[in-house]
Amino acid sequence: MSQEDEFKRTIVYADSALDYIKTNKLPAFPRNYELWYSYASGFNRALNRTINKILARDGKISPEETQKIYNRFLSPNRLGERIDEVGDKISEEVRELISALDKGTLKTTEYGEELARTLNALENVSDRSQLSQLVIHLAKLTTETAESNQELREQLVDSRRQIGVLQEGLEAIRYESLTDELTTLNNRKHFDQSLVRAVKETEESHAPLSLLISDIDHFKQFNDNYGHQTGDQVLRLVALAVKQNVKNNDIACRYGGEEFGIILPRTTIEDAKVIAEKIRKNVVAKELVKRSTGENLGRITISIGISTFRPGDSAESMVSRADLALYAAKKAGRNLVKAEEEKKIPNVTQVA
Ligand code: GH3
Ligand code: MG
Ligand code: MG
Repeated sequence: MSQEDEFKRTIVYADSALDYIKTNKLPAFPRNYELWYSYASGFNRALNRTINKILARDGKISPEETQKIYNRFLSPNRLGERIDEVGDKISEEVRELISALDKGTLKTTEYGEELARTLNALENVSDRSQLSQLVIHLAKLTTETAESNQELREQLVDSRRQIGVLQEGLEAIRYESLTDELTTLNNRKHFDQSLVRAVKETEESHAPLSLLISDIDHFKQFNDNYGHQTGDQVLRLVALAVKQNVKNNDIACRYGGEEFGIILPRTTIEDAKVIAEKIRKNVVAKELVKRSTGENLGRITISIGISTFRPGDSAESMVSRADLALYAAKKAGRNLVKAEEEKKIPNVTQVA
């Protein structure tokens, strides 16, 4: 897309955002503009889905709902705020549970005490009507206690359900905090944590561990030619090629803008080369066609560098050797896989 086209598109989004603000009579906060600009651009699909659902249901959207949607999808602190929200709800739930249990325990204690008193009274019963009164009293007391226990049981079941929902919410937040939105691969934070863990496991188990770092070739040029948005689609495509060639235990991540890091536990350098070649070939095999216009965008290629665990390695040293190998692949002409230099094994002459 030319710069002129990009500019025109920006104006269309901006006009459309202002229209939404006018139609819904929203206050002129920058966050409202950001929200409706995002909506007009359609980049954030989850945000659009949520807004469309409300519009379909109510025909309009209130400032409170707008604020909620902003917090959920756009606020820079959205994960932190959602964690606080779930935390507050869990505290509330636990407080209610404790008070319900307290009430239940009190009721049972009172019941016990009342039973003891009734037992005493039974010993001094002198006529039938007195006895009948005591029995009625006992029956009433027992029913009340049973009802109160039933209430407690229902409250416990309800609490268990609510806590289940909160747990799911926390799981979703955790997933989001470790996932890259564009490609749905793991994000950099996940990569860093996983590589440290994988190095530690390898030190203990002595199983091999390899690392791939890939980088798209001449991607800046591609973006300049076809626009950033088309570039983003290509990122998704490369991510798909990565996903299709790794197994369950492998950890595929978006390492940087157009770089992917793939941690391969229990994988030798030889096997890592095979996997890297598959990914490279998969990417170059795809002919890119722009869906909206049918324009043929040619092919893109990637280069991949590989390192494998050596005793004494840290996450950083593995990344740095994979980076060096990647650099060598770029230098050797790109669209290539290069493994790190093999460590020279000193020539030892065996003496019998
Ligand atoms: P090389 O073959 O040496 O890797 O050339 P290159 O142009 O790909 O160089 P480099 O790896 O330094 O380029 C990074 C470029 O990738 C810059 C930017 O245009 C693009 N890029 C980085 N992150 C993103 C992203 O999230 N989306 C899009 N569309 N492009 C990105
Ligand atoms: Mg790069
Ligand atoms: Mg690149």
